[in-house]
Amino acid sequence: MKKHILVLGAGFGGLELSTVLSEAFGDGVDVTLIDKGDAFTFGYSKLDVMFGRTTLDAVRLPYKNFVKPGVRLLQETITLVDPVARRVTTDRGTHEADFLVVALGADYDFDATPGLADATEFYTVAGAARLGKILPTFTKGHVLVGVCGAPFKCPPAPSEAALMMHDYLTTRGLRGACEITLILPLETPVPPSPETSRALLAAFAERNITFVADREVRSIDTQRRVATIDDGREFPYDLFLGVPAHRAPKILEDSGMTEDGYVPVKPKTLETRFPDVYAVGDCARQGTAKAGYFAEGAARAVATALIARLQNKEAPVTHAGTGSCYIEFGAGLVGRVDVDFFSNPDHPTGTYHEPSVAMRADKEHFGSSRRARWFGL
Ligand SMILES: Cc1cc2nc3c(=O)[nH]c(=O)nc-3n(C[C@H](O)[C@H](O)[C@H](O)COP(=O)(O)OP(=O)(O)OC[C@H]3O[C@@H](n4cnc5c(N)ncnc54)[C@H](O)[C@@H]3O)c2cc1C
Repeated sequence: MKKHILVLGAGFGGLELSTVLSEAFGDGVDVTLIDKGDAFTFGYSKLDVMFGRTTLDAVRLPYKNFVKPGVRLLQETITLVDPVARRVTTDRGTHEADFLVVALGADYDFDATPGLADATEFYTVAGAARLGKILPTFTKGHVLVGVCGAPFKCPPAPSEAALMMHDYLTTRGLRGACEITLILPLETPVPPSPETSRALLAAFAERNITFVADREVRSIDTQRRVATIDDGREFPYDLFLGVPAHRAPKILEDSGMTEDGYVPVKPKTLETRFPDVYAVGDCARQGTAKAGYFAEGAARAVATALIARLQNKEAPVTHAGTGSCYIEFGAGLVGRVDVDFFSNPDHPTGTYHEPSVAMRADKEHFGSSRRARWFGL
């Protein structure tokens, strides 16, 4: 009988894992992929939606287009995971697995920051769309890009938001009437790559963007329009671009799978402490940054291990902990940082690639190749 592989979450990790298994076995594999949503959206599309470069409809990739031999994609909401029995409860029933892969991403912890639920943020699709409607009405004042806790997804994204905001206001002839401040709970914009951080700091200085390092937003008073940070300082704002604190989905905590907010795994194999249960991507403490590129790399490593195990071979260890992040510098230019998290786990290293138009094409290819591979679009 075929072994049943249950994949929880059809994001970067779940989509790639299911695709690799389907490519390897076709109908010879039995994969069930579960997601509560009806479409996938790339994280960086939220910036494009917020700045009015595209529409929500244009960036939604409906799951009905994810058609792979051997894979069933179900739209169900997972309510409980029993990692010992490898049994998953959803709003529509229960599923049992021989191998379970948890790829549920990170959730946003709005309760961790008083006032944030009533403020504006750009890390959810709805929040980015809401800001996309507010931005055209904004004409002067202080724009505050504020991160409410680390770790957070895509470490360069708040820096990109500040740089893109500079461009957006400049194009509308409003930059002189506005201030931009970025509050980041990191000592430098991209800690593994001093060169990338230097380039971003220079870009902030050239554009008169104030950078507040190593600080996080602790509370927001939407009546007074003031954000308070962790050293007690208050920052009045006219437009708040928030990044909520993150955590693994609560159901994983309720299922006893998390420690300190995330699912612990062996970084090289992505195995949890439960036999035949793996966790990949943003819900796991997988030893890399929280970004799609790294979720995908971890998913490929688990797929390779599962392919070997289904063939009764020894599972190879292939998770390299390497990946790239594209960085929007504004003015149509995109840079890139390639990061290696595992060669020296105490000191991840990064290689910086200067912003260019060619790199924009590289980023577009990153998106279009996944769109084609996963959705045939
Ligand atoms: C503004 C922004 C910009 C970004 N830019 C980049 C970038 O340029 N490059 C990059 O690599 N990454 C980028 N990212 C990060 C990237 O989007 C995430 O790191 C990536 O999606 C993580 O993949 P994942 O598979 O772990 O989780 P996700 O892609 O988040 O997928 C998790 C899935 O689980 C589902 N799920 C959760 N709970 C349940 C439940 N209870 N029941 C059923 N389904 C559930 C969700 O619906 C979701 O589809 C960006 C993120 C943001 C917010």
